[in-house]
Amino acid sequence: MTKKRNIVVKIGSALLANQELLTPRYGFLQRLLEDVAQLRSEGNDVILCSSGSVALGLRIIGETPESAGISDKQAAAACGMPLLLNAYKQVGHEFGFEIAQVLLTLGDFEDHRRFLNTRNTVARLLEAGVMPIVNENDTITTEEIRVGDNDRLAAKVAQMVGATDFIILTGVDGLYDRNPDDPDAVFIPEVTDVGPYMDATKGKSTLGTGGMETKLQAANMAQEAGVTTWIAQGEVDRPLSTVLNGSRRATKVIPNPNPLSGWDSWIANRLQMAGSLVISEDTANAIANDNRPIRRDDIVSMDGDFSRGDVLHIYDSKGIERARGLSDFTSEELRVLTNNPDTDAEQLLGYKTRGEIIRGNNLVMLETRHLLWDAPPAITEA
Ligand code: GLU
Repeated sequence: MTKKRNIVVKIGSALLANQELLTPRYGFLQRLLEDVAQLRSEGNDVILCSSGSVALGLRIIGETPESAGISDKQAAAACGMPLLLNAYKQVGHEFGFEIAQVLLTLGDFEDHRRFLNTRNTVARLLEAGVMPIVNENDTITTEEIRVGDNDRLAAKVAQMVGATDFIILTGVDGLYDRNPDDPDAVFIPEVTDVGPYMDATKGKSTLGTGGMETKLQAANMAQEAGVTTWIAQGEVDRPLSTVLNGSRRATKVIPNPNPLSGWDSWIANRLQMAGSLVISEDTANAIANDNRPIRRDDIVSMDGDFSRGDVLHIYDSKGIERARGLSDFTSEELRVLTNNPDTDAEQLLGYKTRGEIIRGNNLVMLETRHLLWDAPPAITEA
């Protein structure tokens, strides 16, 4: 018997909503869920991460993809979500299974307790034979607390559930070395390092939020967690199984053979960081070799206001981000410690401490090919 797969599928808005009428595309949903039903009957778990709520809700509030601003899209998402889920429910019933809605925000991934709680709920749904359909809760998210695109949201779900496969269904058959409309564009069947393709893939889709760039960022996130990513055209019969059995063209992004543990992956793959530290290159290399903690006298400078337990970026003196880790101190405490290097930590803080700023097991070195998700904050002297 072949090993059971745990498959996360990301479906873009253009596949789900008719471009002109902004209504659900039932033909696509039937082809998709027929395939899902088949995969489920073979013992595989399938989780969908579906876009489409904004596109399907726009007409209800009298907007178009071109006219809508942020608050229009948030209102549209509230209108479109029940339409989208109703379409999934109807078609799911045709193929004999139930679906469930899981609406998430960035905070559900960034806060470790909420992360674990979400993971448990998704596991419980799968155990009950119900297919979870995940989307970002656009209606209540603001710019600062959004994942922003469903490519990365789906990658986070793949990482959270320890997926074997992450399939991104889209309007093109995979990655090209430049804009696929260019007659000289070359198809890339397999990728280990997505970095060199990032520049060639800028630009966005009309209905959804992402483009090839966010797909590659998502694939990078998944590969670091040991998940195989497939980028494939969604507009075909059996859109998932034909990718998994290799019978049609798709781009495969190879997983890292030494994936991060769940805890390390949670630390490394956060989208929001509370602050940053700069350490010397020698210290960074020593930490990479020995997995030793970051100590007070390693810190060259720091930035940000953070609490104990917040995740920090760790840069070397060349400005290259080398690691991420959980701070054992607040930024205020850390400033006191670094501004008074010759005074005993216990005396400065008034409590007993080992003086390790970031412990070894809360510190993750970033692979050179790990992509950065956000612009690093300005670094000031401590
Ligand atoms: N969450 C958005 C929606 O449901 C889609 C975001 C995206 O396409 O990346 O419409």
